Amino acid sequence: MKSFKDVYKNSTNKIAGIAAAPGIVIGRAYLFSKEKLEISKAAITDVDEAIQNFNEALKQSKKELNKIFGIAHEKMDATRAAIFEAQLMILDDPVLINNIEKRILNEKIQPEFIVADEISKYQELMVISNESYMKERALDIEDIKNRIIRNLQKKRWQSRIKKNLIVVSEYLTPADTLLFSRQETQGFITDHGGLTSHAAIISRSLNIPAVVGTHNATQIIKDDDLIIVDGFHGYIILNPTDDQLDFFTFKQKKLLEIQKELEELKDQAAVTLDGKEINLESNVDVTGEIDMVITSGSKGIGLYRSEQILNELEAFPSEEEQTNIYSKLASRIYPKFVTIRAFDIGGDKLRLHNYKEPNPFLGLRGIRFLLENESLFKTQIRAVLKSSENKNIKFMIPMISTLDEIRQTLRLIQNCKNELKKEKVKYDNQMKIGIMIEVPSAAIMAEEFAQEIDFISVGTNDLIQYLMAVDRGNDLVSNLYQEFSPVVIRTLDHIVKGAKKFSVPVSICGEMAADTLAIPLLIGLGINSLSMSPSTILYAKRIIRNIEFKKAKVLADECLKCKTEVETQKKVQKFFDDNNITRTRNII
Ligand code: PEP
Ligand code: MG
Repeated sequence: MKSFKDVYKNSTNKIAGIAAAPGIVIGRAYLFSKEKLEISKAAITDVDEAIQNFNEALKQSKKELNKIFGIAHEKMDATRAAIFEAQLMILDDPVLINNIEKRILNEKIQPEFIVADEISKYQELMVISNESYMKERALDIEDIKNRIIRNLQKKRWQSRIKKNLIVVSEYLTPADTLLFSRQETQGFITDHGGLTSHAAIISRSLNIPAVVGTHNATQIIKDDDLIIVDGFHGYIILNPTDDQLDFFTFKQKKLLEIQKELEELKDQAAVTLDGKEINLESNVDVTGEIDMVITSGSKGIGLYRSEQILNELEAFPSEEEQTNIYSKLASRIYPKFVTIRAFDIGGDKLRLHNYKEPNPFLGLRGIRFLLENESLFKTQIRAVLKSSENKNIKFMIPMISTLDEIRQTLRLIQNCKNELKKEKVKYDNQMKIGIMIEVPSAAIMAEEFAQEIDFISVGTNDLIQYLMAVDRGNDLVSNLYQEFSPVVIRTLDHIVKGAKKFSVPVSICGEMAADTLAIPLLIGLGINSLSMSPSTILYAKRIIRNIEFKKAKVLADECLKCKTEVETQKKVQKFFDDNNITRTRNII
């Protein structure tokens, strides 16, 4: 049987994009193009009538959005439906409405021009933001703008949507995505948009395969073309050959079988054939994922990347705002645990300082930034402590490279506890404090560091980058980013052995934890907790339930003797073959 790689290598009728929502669909294309609205700047004579028209357009837009919000509630969970609630709030924004009304009065021109102009100002601010999240929100606002203008012009929404088609569009708003889903749309393809676009998030939660960011799909695909959307690998096949059709139909069938099998694992333990239980937890990168954690069959949140809230909010959140966020998070996940990671600011992520660093990955990142900005760090520590009353929060520090950083952090946490005690605020005095091991210096000192803290979580994404001196985001050197390098395997072994001496638990929360090929080796090395994206939990569980811990230990011992990555990979692959274990990705 051919692999996906073979098929894509030999296909000239493919379009590449970003895999935004998993799944494979074969169907007919429906090109959805939004009517371009002509906006008039003509002078008006009756100002009162114009203001009345504007208010009616607002009312009509609210009515429409309320309807969509209702559908959203029916189809999705509350967190995601809130996207539409946010749009409704814009329609109620007194500052925006006052500005528009004032300008209609003063400038005496068509309200549609003023609406477009005022809302575009909001959008521009968002587009120039460095954060992809804010850029994506600019598209949501486009939806509101067009809705009000269309209602001012008293036009109806173009709702000629056929059923059961694959929608191909330049971009999709969350409202479009939802309305299309009502027509049993099978898949989505867009020219623009990224993984964090709400349309992508909604596709994922509605389970509709999607490929976004193709740049030019709308120019290549024609109405009614037969297409295949591969939401796993981010490809579209246009007018497939018989061979391609056979291949993807077979894959679809396989996928259905696997999904059924995986669903059955939800309530089962992640336990090896010889009885060793592995703790599977979830990584949370966007707020919307919390619901998936609850339904994913995972044991809690092993990594909550708290810097995400800085991306999602416009201003730096106050202690109160943070307390609100963390408390909600902790109570939603209760009685399971959430591990909140302190803001990992810097590197390729959000930067809050103006100084342009020549080597940001080696610069003021993670704990280094936090200790330089003590009051900001204290705001977060106090908020985390204040949210810990139910005793289900752990706190974790990123990018530790020296013992001094650990001690300074622990001192700060103690200071915050003392302050809260004086303020008579309740908190969990036993809250577990852990460190991430992401830097070679911390890996080497694992034994010494372990004596100062409660747990260790290995951030392999960064650890591999720093061990191999290879930028994790640089394509030119990606061949050196070697998960199975003996350097990585021996370093993990060193960390586990060091921590074990003081009974400090070690987990992995980097992407390596979700690589089904790596899982037996990691378990064999003695790692008994893995944290990964909630959508990969069942895939990992399936592997764990098919291996023997005893054999995984032998595999780890053999791999520790390997001298190259290829040698290690071969050993691991042989383990899968000898024990007759198939990986899901290989089955579909
Ligand atoms: C890691 O480095 O492995 C990790 C989990 O942190 P991040 O990917 O957020 O840097
Ligand atoms: Mg990291």
